[in-house]
Amino acid sequence: MTNKKREAQATLESLHQIFTIPEAPDSTLGRIEAEISQNLNGFLGNHIVATEKPLTEIEKDFASSQIPEQPQYVSDHTHHLLDKLISQSVHTSAPSFIGHMTSALPYFVLPLAKLMTGLNQNLVKIETSKAFTPLERQVLGMMHRMVYQQNDSFYEQWMHSAQHSLGAFCSGGTVANITALWVARNNLLKADGVFSGVGKEGLFKALKHYGYEGLAILVSERGHYSLKKAADILGIGRDSVIAIKTDSNNRIDCQELEQECARLEQKNIKVMSIVGVAGTTETGNIDPLREMAGIAQQFNCHFHVDAAWGGATLLSNKYRSLLDGVELADSVTIDAHKQMYVPMGAGLVVFKNPESVASIEHHAEYILRKGSKDLGSHTLEGSRPGMAMMVYASMHIISRPGYELLVNQSIEKAHYFAELIKADDDFELLTEPELCLLTYRYVPQAVQQFLQNADRKQQEEINVILDKLTKFIQKRQREAGKSFVSRTRIEVSHYHGRKVLVFRVVLANPLTTDAILQEVLKEQKQLAAESLQFLPQVLAKVIN
Ligand SMILES: *Cc1c(COP(=O)(O)O)cnc(C)c1O
Repeated sequence: MTNKKREAQATLESLHQIFTIPEAPDSTLGRIEAEISQNLNGFLGNHIVATEKPLTEIEKDFASSQIPEQPQYVSDHTHHLLDKLISQSVHTSAPSFIGHMTSALPYFVLPLAKLMTGLNQNLVKIETSKAFTPLERQVLGMMHRMVYQQNDSFYEQWMHSAQHSLGAFCSGGTVANITALWVARNNLLKADGVFSGVGKEGLFKALKHYGYEGLAILVSERGHYSLKKAADILGIGRDSVIAIKTDSNNRIDCQELEQECARLEQKNIKVMSIVGVAGTTETGNIDPLREMAGIAQQFNCHFHVDAAWGGATLLSNKYRSLLDGVELADSVTIDAHKQMYVPMGAGLVVFKNPESVASIEHHAEYILRKGSKDLGSHTLEGSRPGMAMMVYASMHIISRPGYELLVNQSIEKAHYFAELIKADDDFELLTEPELCLLTYRYVPQAVQQFLQNADRKQQEEINVILDKLTKFIQKRQREAGKSFVSRTRIEVSHYHGRKVLVFRVVLANPLTTDAILQEVLKEQKQLAAESLQFLPQVLAKVIN
């Protein structure tokens, strides 16, 4: 145990020890390690305080900007982490944590994570990763096959070819989307005659050479904000991401899309890419991908599908057809750290054409020599960890049919939850689950009836109050710490396109039971009852 008088020293000798001597099993870190590998949920459960501490309070524990002059013993520091950090972190693996795409992990990733961290392979080049490079290429091949379903000889030819790549592995969906649009931009504004390509000469000269007034990226209004980041850093500008309106099912309106493409063409603005969303972040709906592919072909532009969240549905034979047409996309983003239950830091993009990535190839003399199989020559990121091993291991341990079971039960659980909500007169389901995501809110039955016949002004007055109520319930539920749903604003057509505050539920954790879902609704009803004093008299006044 810690002797208060004992002080760590910054000596070379003690530093050597850190590098060479493992933590003893009875040290604090050693015990944590054992506890975690025996009972992760229990470990987190015991260390998460249910009482909400405001962030401003927590910030006081992280206030110093000085790098310590006095070193600490590992055990002392571990106590500090437990006390100040772990105890105030979020129990994302709890079966009642159903508000976000970040969810529980299978146990086997813990020892694998230790192995991965310990080996510290760097995928930027073969000299620092060796077998990890072919493994990552195989993972990209498997994901490519999941999307495009080419035959064995296709993968034999391309998977390990030095000059080609079936995709790029990266830290997440944001970088995957940026990579896809980077490829789209460079292939569109490629070298041509005296012009040596946008990558070399920049956007200004590229537009001049090709005679375009500008570029545009077209996506539904439900598109993820990472696309705007991509447009920003690619020099196209955030305003050039054009939001196309959606239908009542939150899917892109293809007629609008086609008309916008034509309008832009008239203005001599080139559509660089049309982006389909396969599982929107807010409502989980899937765009009509096949129809969008047709429009992309008509206007001769890149077709990207952002399936960061919904892509794993392709592992389910039962539900794969929901993404019908995805195989027509030039590139597809998938996050393994969402519905493939891999720890964070595992995103990827696959390209239909193995030649696509040539347009973003970079070389350097000391590494990434021309013709080498170094993965760093066509990734945005430089040094990268061996995360592909986690995807590889998960696909082998869980297998395709195993993933299918996980995907199917998530979707079916969402349907069950939607039925519960619909069966209860005091809740309003705002978006039906297409995958395992839905939105709803609490609206007392009498108010619902009134809303149906209310005029627009009355509707607005009531919706303002209901927004407050939704926020109140969501916050109080989070603070109570028993369960968690998130909240977002979505436009609702039967309220004249008003943006309504809703609860958002993502049912990814296989340990979430029907009873937990029933409990979530029950708790929300109790919180609503508590809030009656908070609800202004106005509600009663509007109704009477
Ligand atoms: C999560 C998500 C992203 C961003 O992925 P990160 O891994 O958070 O960078 C992009 N698009 C969609 C549709 C997403 O759901």
